[in-house]
Amino acid sequence: MTEQTLARPAAPAAPKIGFVSLGCPKALTDSELILTQLRAEGYETSKTFEGADLVIVNTCGFIDDAVKESLDTIGEALAANGKVIVTGCLGAKGGADTGAAAGTDGNLVRRMHPSVLAVTGPHATNEVMDAVHRHSPKPHDPFIDLVPAHGIKLTPRHYAYLKISEGCNHRCSFCIIPSMRGDLVSRPIGDVLGEAQRLFEAGVKELLVISQDTSAYGVDVKFRTGFWDGRPVKTHMTDLCERLAELAATHGAWVRLHYVYPYPHVDQILPLMAGGGILPYLDVPLQHSHPDVLRRMKRPASGEKNLERLQRWRELCPEIVVRSTFIAGFPGETEAEFEHLLGFMRDAQIDRAGSFAYSPVEGATANDLPGMLPPELREERRARFMSVAEEVSAAKLRQRIGATMQVLVDSAPAMGRKGGVGRTYADAPEIDGHVKLLAPEKASKTLKVGEFTRVKIVGTQGHDLVGQPV
Ligand code: SF4
Repeated sequence: MTEQTLARPAAPAAPKIGFVSLGCPKALTDSELILTQLRAEGYETSKTFEGADLVIVNTCGFIDDAVKESLDTIGEALAANGKVIVTGCLGAKGGADTGAAAGTDGNLVRRMHPSVLAVTGPHATNEVMDAVHRHSPKPHDPFIDLVPAHGIKLTPRHYAYLKISEGCNHRCSFCIIPSMRGDLVSRPIGDVLGEAQRLFEAGVKELLVISQDTSAYGVDVKFRTGFWDGRPVKTHMTDLCERLAELAATHGAWVRLHYVYPYPHVDQILPLMAGGGILPYLDVPLQHSHPDVLRRMKRPASGEKNLERLQRWRELCPEIVVRSTFIAGFPGETEAEFEHLLGFMRDAQIDRAGSFAYSPVEGATANDLPGMLPPELREERRARFMSVAEEVSAAKLRQRIGATMQVLVDSAPAMGRKGGVGRTYADAPEIDGHVKLLAPEKASKTLKVGEFTRVKIVGTQGHDLVGQPV
């Protein structure tokens, strides 16, 4: 055989796919799966609409603003490129896409933008790839780049989201996620732990566990026993957390839990938090405190005594930080019910609280409840709630002054010689505050993105802390 016949033929130019990812962290993991598959098949990705062979838009359909942003982005991609595939939550709105002409299909995206090539709902990597193959056939190059074992991630290399389930068994009256994403489907525990291990091995220093209801993990499969690393392990939140804590410890990394409901079994996680295996941080979307409002919202764990449960968590793990979100001005909310919420916020000392003025979402059953409040009142209550929440949160931040804390560095230009930005266990990326890092006093001390450093907290600035690396 001559050298000539062994030489690699010139590879066909790989099609370029533009990609826009809108929406929540759950949508981000869908984007990562699609991008990983594209790369595995030899496609390239393009940062601009103009330079791409086609564009994929991963949409969000949760609230009306997100719907508008998604529809606008689809319109921009169509104007600039012309070939657009739509996926994500908005794609599931108003019925499945049948590809029918404008006006004859219930699918919202199809009605607004009849010329899109294809529309899918969330978690539809295979359908998206089928549409990509139809409209921009994949290159037949056996020498395609290998995908890194951990896939393609959209988050910075040092933190990553780990999605443990899809869908939700609850039917909160303000939410349409179950109608878009279906009932809870837990990923097999072996797959979840395998992915966590690959991420840690790839250098991830903070793993963010996400789902619609992390505390419900395994309910759909009756907590079936799976296998990982040659050992039986139950598909259950507690078992998952124990194994994640072991894995994280061997890689010197953090594990943070999102979307946990205040069920009694969550108490079992607290010793792991107190021992440092899982970060003492709980993201518990409470939405309200008054039992009648919670009943009208049809919230999971609405019969639980949330204040007592939070107090118990603080006894088991005094350093725990609780993040939550609340809805102000829910239909029928009386002034007394709203004041109950303000009182709860003060008593529960929620460290990080976000709030929304109630916004009717098309298709949500809460829209039919009596007593819809005028938008100005909903907004006024949101503002009143936030001023109490900020007072609580600012006082809690001030208590940190003087403490020395471990900080994960997110940004450190010039090796951090002029300082940088990081986060403590109390700050989830993208939703909480930061630690503004001052320039290290010792010339030999450098800061690197994705590494931990000890920091003495010297002050606060709004939602953020200011710290001196030591
Ligand atoms: S728990 Fe409620 S708000 Fe959350 S996804 Fe399920 S139905 Fe929606």
